[in-house]
Amino acid sequence: KLHNTIQELKGNIRVFCRIRPYLGKEASEDNNSMEHYDLNQPGGKSLDIITSNVAGVSGKSEAGKKFQFTFDKVFKPDSTQAAVFDELSQLVQSALDGYNTCIFAYGQTGSGKTYTMEGPGIPNSDMDLPIEEQSTKDGKGMIPRAVEQIWMSAEQLKDKGWTYQMEATYVEIYNESIRDLLAKKQVTDDIKYDIKHDTKGNTTITNITTVKVRTPQQVYELLARASHNRSVGFTNMNERSSRSHSVFQLRLTGLNSFTTETVSGLLNLIDLAGSERLNSSGVTGQRLKETQHINKSLTHLGDVIAALANKDAHVPYRNSKLTYLLQNSLGGNSKTLMFVNISPRSNDLNETISSLRFATKVN
Ligand code: ADP
Ligand code: MG
Repeated sequence: KLHNTIQELKGNIRVFCRIRPYLGKEASEDNNSMEHYDLNQPGGKSLDIITSNVAGVSGKSEAGKKFQFTFDKVFKPDSTQAAVFDELSQLVQSALDGYNTCIFAYGQTGSGKTYTMEGPGIPNSDMDLPIEEQSTKDGKGMIPRAVEQIWMSAEQLKDKGWTYQMEATYVEIYNESIRDLLAKKQVTDDIKYDIKHDTKGNTTITNITTVKVRTPQQVYELLARASHNRSVGFTNMNERSSRSHSVFQLRLTGLNSFTTETVSGLLNLIDLAGSERLNSSGVTGQRLKETQHINKSLTHLGDVIAALANKDAHVPYRNSKLTYLLQNSLGGNSKTLMFVNISPRSNDLNETISSLRFATKVN
């Protein structure tokens, strides 16, 4: 009860922190390991970081401090994808009831955003697996889990007269321009992807590929196609994807044949550009423009969410493509969840603290 009241006050914005496990040799190479993260708080909502003598925290003001952050939930490094999804299944479910919902992953490059959203190895190595095997993998991320859950619920709602249609789009926003990740043909520069809002509160992107999702397994084909499209024409795909936002949208339209009721909900799953502060000193040309765009668009996103949380009269949606695209899915009657993904490495502590501060701002 109390929890609900708090949720309402916060305008339906929740923030989860997820700490990824050490990978490979990271643990043995890290002299100041997990003991600096105190996760033994009641309720698993608090994260304490003690920075005394931790290498990697620059500036005197940061060293020797205890930072305390509070979230709606903190996921420890050993949290499974299933356990994480458990905490968002209700939010996903509300898209079937006609809500617009957003799930973001925020964090520095390498902190686990794509793992959380898509899963391990997708898009690269695992795409060689048969689709059936991918869909049963324990590591599958929030996008396939969300689609599967919606599918199962829609099946159950058939008894009550409901039939649902699912339509997916997947775009990348890079340097404030939109790229269609589901395009079947090579996209040419003269195609214009413009964001349009209609008076009913629907948002569309002109010329975008929309795929009717008929089976939950099909989502793996879409992730594969997106991964292929991401790699075309770019020598360093990982670098590029860490500098762009990926927005997976699933529109659900339901029609009830008993009552003729209709509902329309939208689920947005967003893998944000790496939040590491890019140093623009000595950077010029295209690279400088790129750096400024990333820094700005994450700041603009934070501003929008903070304005919504504060119930400000003016919400600055128009300042960036991402917030403009999500205008009808942020605020109003919509529900938002943000993952702040962090690394366990003490060398990453500067970025970790800056990510946690961003989260505090939007929380
Ligand atoms: P990001 O998208 O934030 O740059 P990734 O999702 O690519 O980061 O994660 C970096 C690496 O860490 C990948 O190899 C990924 O598989 C691994 N990883 C991230 N989170 C987890 C986790 N919770 N469990 C196991 N491995 C993870
Ligand atoms: Mg990634």
